[in-house]
Amino acid sequence: MSNSKVSNSGVAALLEKVMQELTADTLDDTLEKLRFFFPETLLLGALDLIDRDSVIVYNTPWGRSQYEVLGSTATYAVFPGLPSGGGHTLAYCTCPAYAYSVLLSETQLMCKHVLATLLARRLERCVERPIDADELASVIARQCSL
Ligand SMILES: [Zn+2]
Repeated sequence: MSNSKVSNSGVAALLEKVMQELTADTLDDTLEKLRFFFPETLLLGALDLIDRDSVIVYNTPWGRSQYEVLGSTATYAVFPGLPSGGGHTLAYCTCPAYAYSVLLSETQLMCKHVLATLLARRLERCVERPIDADELASVIARQCSL
């Protein structure tokens, strides 16, 4: 197993460029490029989540979007962004893979939930859920472990 760290800013900047090119029309091309950045299993896992309509976005009345991804055993709060953070929100996911592979060992740029959310946003495949104040309170409580 390699110890090379992938979260350096050069790689992140390249990834950001690839992501910006992504539309439904360029999906095949972009997937080829994404294979340089992610293991096949991660990529397929992310596409599978999108296929299952597992990327949920809650739009708040004041224009903020909260994302959740329905995993096979749990629902994870995802804060989509890119590892470089340059002008973007830093990505974060509440799943164990993110904590281990991304934050601790730095062997992956992101988990499949963050990748699925980034891809779904570009492809307009997020499942939009309207949300009222009560529901929003429970989403925030869940996401912040309150
Ligand atoms: Zn995750």
